[in-house]
Amino acid sequence: MKKYLLAPGPTAISPEVLLSMAQPILHHRAPEFGELIKRVREDLKWLFQTENEVLIIASTGTGGMEGSVSNFLNPGDKALFVNGGKFGERWGKICKSYGVLTEEITVEWGCAVNPDDVATALKKDPTIKAVFTQASETSTGVAHPIREVAEVVKSYPDCLMVVDAISALGVFDVQTDAWGLDVVVSGSQKALALPPGLAFVAVSEKGWARADKVNNAKFYFDFKKEHAAIKKNQTAYTAAVSLIVGLEQSLKMMKTEGRENIYARRALMAKALREAMTGIGLASFPKQSPAVSVTAISVPEGYDGQAIYKDLRVKYGITAAGGQDHLKGKVFRISNMGYLDTFDTITAVAAIEMVLKAMGFPLKLGTGVGIAQEILLKK
Ligand SMILES: *Cc1c(COP(=O)(O)O)cnc(C)c1O
Repeated sequence: MKKYLLAPGPTAISPEVLLSMAQPILHHRAPEFGELIKRVREDLKWLFQTENEVLIIASTGTGGMEGSVSNFLNPGDKALFVNGGKFGERWGKICKSYGVLTEEITVEWGCAVNPDDVATALKKDPTIKAVFTQASETSTGVAHPIREVAEVVKSYPDCLMVVDAISALGVFDVQTDAWGLDVVVSGSQKALALPPGLAFVAVSEKGWARADKVNNAKFYFDFKKEHAAIKKNQTAYTAAVSLIVGLEQSLKMMKTEGRENIYARRALMAKALREAMTGIGLASFPKQSPAVSVTAISVPEGYDGQAIYKDLRVKYGITAAGGQDHLKGKVFRISNMGYLDTFDTITAVAAIEMVLKAMGFPLKLGTGVGIAQEILLKK
């Protein structure tokens, strides 16, 4: 059976990237590797839309999140975090394990944070030293208005705006410098279409100034050490060499396509999938602001989302994702990230129709496919 990886991470990888990683391994202190880092540094700045360095760390995205707490906050400092799903919740957990006091904005799963709530919280407690949020909350398929939140945070000179853009950067517009984002985290296995194992972190000058005042216990995720290393085209410890070779290839392909073209293409795929689902009677889960990166689809009354997700895999070789926590069984998710194009979206829609039909759900086969085709048709 042919396999299709349509999960929101790890995502499908292009043959170009896979082949690039099959080359004999470079030594991480060899001059060729320094040259590679030099090129990748520039390309990452392009992707993050920043003039500052982007750190490359051998860890999953969560390591990048952890370092974004431990490098910028002291125990006893106060942080505000947006909790609108699994990954928002994680900011709170990391803060707690570093003795950081937390204030939480609870957002109903499926909704986006209201920037006014951030403004209210900061006004109430101006000692808050950082605001943590996701750009795209992968567990609910919602995009938070990070540009507007950053606008609020900007007027607090002692407060950092920290964004988990792990399922956002490279899929929709995230303007690190122009929007005043102080710390932006990404990871390799989602939008960048690489295997898991790399985290990326961009840090503003405001962020580095804060890091100088922080003495939190940390060792491996010491961002100042990584910052000094990358400026010399190195990583502090053994680099994930092969992944960085793949990264160069992935970034090269992204640059060839162009940022705006990527965003437009992904947005169209997400729209086609969402409208095809609505067209066959499956509502989009987000109540507002659906993210381009992942489409969360509500399961119709009387049907089991876990069964839909399982049938997709067992009958058709398609790996999607189910819902997490209280959404288990009620939602399933399809990625618009990774090495995907028009016909992956159509494949997803066709397979969902076939799975639902077999379960007795009333629908005319091809209805959703037709809707998706209309939207994706290159006129
Ligand atoms: C996947 C993901 C993470 C966690 O990344 P890992 O690589 O699994 O550690 C964090 N935040 C968001 C928004 C994600 O999608």
